Amino acid sequence: MADKYVYDFEEGNKDMKNLLGGKGANLAEMTRMGLPVPHGFTVTCEACNAYRDAGRQFPDGMLDEVATHLENLEEGMGRRLGDPGDPLLVSVRSGAPFSMPGMMDSVLNLGLNDQSVEGLTKQTGSDRFAWDSYRRLLQMFGRTVMGVAGDRFEEAIEHAKEAKGVHNDLDLDAGDLRGLVEEFKGIVADDTGREFPQDPKEQLRLGIEAVFGSWDNKRAVDYRRKNKIDDSLGTAVNIQAMVFGNKGDDSGTGVAFTRNPANGDPAPYGDYLVNAQGEDVVAGIRNTLKLEQMGDVQPRAWEELQAHMRTLEQHYRDMCDIEFTVEQAKLWLLQTRIGKRTAFAEWVMAYDMLSEGLIDVDTASLRLDANRLEELFKKVIAEGGAEAIATGLNASPGAAVGKAVFTADDAEVWAERGEPVILVRRETTPDDYHGMIRSQGVLTSAGGTNSHAAVVARGEGIPAVCGADAIRVDRQGKKFTVGQTTVAEGEWVTIDGFTGKVYAGQLDLADSPIERARSGDPEARKEKIWQAYERFMARADEVRRLKVRANADTPGQSGNAIERGAEGIGLCRTEHMFLGEERVAAVRTMIFAGSAEEEQAAYDALLPLQRDDFVGIFTAMDGKPVTVRLLDPPLHEFLPDQVDLAVSVALAKQQGASEVEVGGEALPLGQAEEMLAKVNDLHETNPMLGLRGVRLGIVKPGLYAMQVRAIIEAACQVKAGGGNPVVEIMIPLAATREELSQLREELEPVARQTLEEQGQELDVLWGTMIELPRAALVAGEIAEVAEFFSFGTNDLTQTAFGFSRDDIGKFLGMYEERKLVPANPFVTIDQAGVGRLMQIASQEGRASRSGLKLGICGEHGGDPDSVRFCHELGLDYVSCSPFRVPTARLAAGQAALGKATAASK
Ligand code: ADP
Ligand code: MG
Ligand code: MG
Repeated sequence: MADKYVYDFEEGNKDMKNLLGGKGANLAEMTRMGLPVPHGFTVTCEACNAYRDAGRQFPDGMLDEVATHLENLEEGMGRRLGDPGDPLLVSVRSGAPFSMPGMMDSVLNLGLNDQSVEGLTKQTGSDRFAWDSYRRLLQMFGRTVMGVAGDRFEEAIEHAKEAKGVHNDLDLDAGDLRGLVEEFKGIVADDTGREFPQDPKEQLRLGIEAVFGSWDNKRAVDYRRKNKIDDSLGTAVNIQAMVFGNKGDDSGTGVAFTRNPANGDPAPYGDYLVNAQGEDVVAGIRNTLKLEQMGDVQPRAWEELQAHMRTLEQHYRDMCDIEFTVEQAKLWLLQTRIGKRTAFAEWVMAYDMLSEGLIDVDTASLRLDANRLEELFKKVIAEGGAEAIATGLNASPGAAVGKAVFTADDAEVWAERGEPVILVRRETTPDDYHGMIRSQGVLTSAGGTNSHAAVVARGEGIPAVCGADAIRVDRQGKKFTVGQTTVAEGEWVTIDGFTGKVYAGQLDLADSPIERARSGDPEARKEKIWQAYERFMARADEVRRLKVRANADTPGQSGNAIERGAEGIGLCRTEHMFLGEERVAAVRTMIFAGSAEEEQAAYDALLPLQRDDFVGIFTAMDGKPVTVRLLDPPLHEFLPDQVDLAVSVALAKQQGASEVEVGGEALPLGQAEEMLAKVNDLHETNPMLGLRGVRLGIVKPGLYAMQVRAIIEAACQVKAGGGNPVVEIMIPLAATREELSQLREELEPVARQTLEEQGQELDVLWGTMIELPRAALVAGEIAEVAEFFSFGTNDLTQTAFGFSRDDIGKFLGMYEERKLVPANPFVTIDQAGVGRLMQIASQEGRASRSGLKLGICGEHGGDPDSVRFCHELGLDYVSCSPFRVPTARLAAGQAALGKATAASK
């Protein structure tokens, strides 16, 4: 059988989106349901692709099929396209498998020409209506099919209104519109060198071509890139009998949501516009009525619309978004789809629909977007009505208010003295990190939703607005300007990461109801959003197989993690236990130590400090496992910067000064020179691949021994106080079995001896991170000496790809756009490569040691898609930052309910 390129609305259904596009499939579905949909048919996406593949040639037979379906349509409607006495008019509407709002073209009122406009007048008794329809056709056809700049038509309308001294389109009468039609034809001819085609069949053919062509227009291509929609899908074309909302005051057009998409309220929500055609609502030409006010002007149609909304919700079992038109009191439905909504509304709706019996609990749970869960916890702007000074991209959700600062160092200084700040930069770089994490929010004038600022802000849960390009940032002058407004350092600024809006001044923020409920506010606990949250999180916890731990380094963070449902700490970094004034001195002594005694003295100074840190953490995590990672970063992180120090020493020598300032402290020149020599000695070209992690442990045996002793002493102390510490000691960056076995031989006796001294018993688990490809490949051997693995997927991604995470900013955006990587591998685990290494390590590790405990502690542990992958791999737990714990719990629950990862779909 020859290919079938055209389907009548009666032939399709909602599951045929790939062939008929979303609009066509749902028009067909509504037709099958017996809802009032104007008749029509759909030319398939396959036809579009065949047309594009053949170099803009319709596939054989397609036009014949269109002609046959058009005849059927004409018969059904009792009118013929272009009939001078009584014309059938149609719309030609684009519609791809995925919604691409406003990206492609539609043309209304096709079939009008100089003759049929008279017929339309006769049939409807309204010459104003007929000429209004004709000028609309010229305008839309001229713009979308013939490529005339739309402004020229609008200017002509403006002139006509001015000449007449009126402001409203509706005040133009038939004569005015007739004049505009002539003018529009002139514009078309002038702009394109071609006449507007009078032959309706030619109009139709050109209309179909234009819709096919619009798939490849720049707007649509960019949109697909950004939203990761496949270029090869193509668009369908829907040809549908026109109905008219512009036939007078008993007509109109509107858009409706079956529930409120902003807050989830179970009441219809939308706009209605009297005496207008569909495109007027979106264009915002006249003020619309609120949907419910439609009841005042069109009570019957309003009743009917409400009934259809209920029918659609029952049928789709979800909130629907509808386009409709009323023609002389008769209601027509022109489009429906599952409506977009805020994260807040998504939870409320899922809860309500569950209560109403529309969906079951697992359907509801699977419908929630774990990626957007965090939005429920964010502050919102409490007061409405403020006017934004600029709008950028909503790069990281939440509202934030603070005083403007313009460098990361200033952010740090101001924040440390207790002032809330918003860090304002053109763009951020890794050097800004320390300032970003101390800011309430981040605002940039350049950069997209995957810029450094955006990625870090989302990772840290800090609200951010990026790419607000109306803003000029003057870093030197410490101010920014936008239009007439200047905001100087220290002046208040408010940003809304939900909407991308920027406000001058200090707006009031409100805590989210979930945060208020969590801190015990009885009123907030009555709110539906809280009940929804409790219900669906409980379900996720009930079904999930993965445990969820947090990455936490302090008792404060541990407390946060527990509050959010963490079942342990999967990564307790010990880096910060080497920082802070009294500690750095000891650390430097250790690094520079000339003798074993000197080195030991430094360890002795550090030990009690670290022990107290661990006591705090074990106490906070009582009864829950804590994985402590022994010191990991390169030593230079604890030393003054090599270049700064070299410059200071050189300057001091040149000026004959006897002292050099090093990190805010005056050192005698001789000592500074000595320090410089040592810093030079330790300098590494590539410290991330240098003396760090397990290698430090090997080179400085006393270091890890001190840490192990501090951990065990702390655990004993907590135990002696009646607590229950569960200790796991983790060695980072191992590549070989031998590294680990040697260290265990050194460290286990230290642990045993400490326990003996303390007169206590404690089971300690010894494990390692798998974060180098070699370690993954020899995991079977490594498991002989490790009781658990924790996948360090940040480093594993860096080393598997050979990407330095700090340097990918220059090309990763392009890589993503060109689909050279499926997604940012630092956000979502690269299943094919990094995931494969994890799979090998899991299988071979468990084959060599049954019951080997497996977890992940990279930032991927809080990424829903990566969590689902970890579930599929059979890991025991994921560990993520404390505020991502609920996200991971939900994603783990959804994985158990069968939600697949993006890559395995
Ligand atoms: P978009 O995808 O941009 O919304 P549509 O194809 O839905 O484009 O059409 C644009 C507008 O024209 C919508 O408001 C729609 O309701 C209206 N419209 C489309 N076809 C018809 C028709 N046959 N009769 C009346 N209005 C129509
Ligand atoms: Mg539409
Ligand atoms: Mg690492």
